[in-house]
Amino acid sequence: MKIICIGRNYIDHAKELNNPVPKKPLVFMKPPSALLVNNKPLYYPEFTEDLHYEGEIVLKICKNGRYVQPEFAHKYFQEIGFGIDFTARDIQRQCKEKGHPWEIAKGFDGSAAMSSFMAIDQVDPTAIEFQMLLNGEVVQHGNTKDLIFSFTDIIVYVSKFFRLQFGDLIFTGTPAGVGPVKIGDKLEGKIFTKEGAKEMIRCDIR
Ligand code: MG
Repeated sequence: MKIICIGRNYIDHAKELNNPVPKKPLVFMKPPSALLVNNKPLYYPEFTEDLHYEGEIVLKICKNGRYVQPEFAHKYFQEIGFGIDFTARDIQRQCKEKGHPWEIAKGFDGSAAMSSFMAIDQVDPTAIEFQMLLNGEVVQHGNTKDLIFSFTDIIVYVSKFFRLQFGDLIFTGTPAGVGPVKIGDKLEGKIFTKEGAKEMIRCDIR
C-alpha cells in the first residue's frame, strides 16, 4: 500500500505558511513504515525541534484503477478516517529552501497517524466537518467543502501518475491552525457524522 498526501489544499492553510495557492494538487508520499495506528503514541523524533500536527480527512482506496474519470471517482473510496500528517517543520523548511525533496520531514516513522475508518455514508461526502484538538482545546476546525481540490479532483489527478490500489490511503490536506507539539501533549481528532461528533483518533506525544 502507499500513502498519498495532498499539500496546501485549503486556502487558509496555504496562507498561514506563506505558500502560494496551488493551481494543481501538490502531491507527496509517505512510506508504509510511516503508519501509526491503534492510537499509539508518537515518540518525538530526535532530528527535529519543530514537530507539527496536521489534522486531515483520509480516503481509503477500495478499488484498483488508473486514469480514473471524474464520474467514477466516488467509486474508489467507501470509507474515510482521520489522519495526522506529522511534519518536522524545521526540516521541511530547510528542504524547501534548497529545493530538495521533503520526505525526511514528512515520511519518517510514525508520521502518518491513522484512525479506524467509517463508511462514507455516515457523513455528507461533500462537506465533512472535522476538528483537531490539542490538550482538549480545538486548534483546527475544517470542512472538506473548503478543499481547493475535491476528492474527485484528487483521485483523477493522482491516478494519472500512480495506479490506485486497494488499501492505499489519501491524506487530503489540512486546514488552518497547524502548530507545534511537545512531549506530553495529547492530540485528538474528531469527525462530525450525521449522528454527531465522533472521536476518531488519539495520539499522545512521548
Ligand atoms: Mg498535510
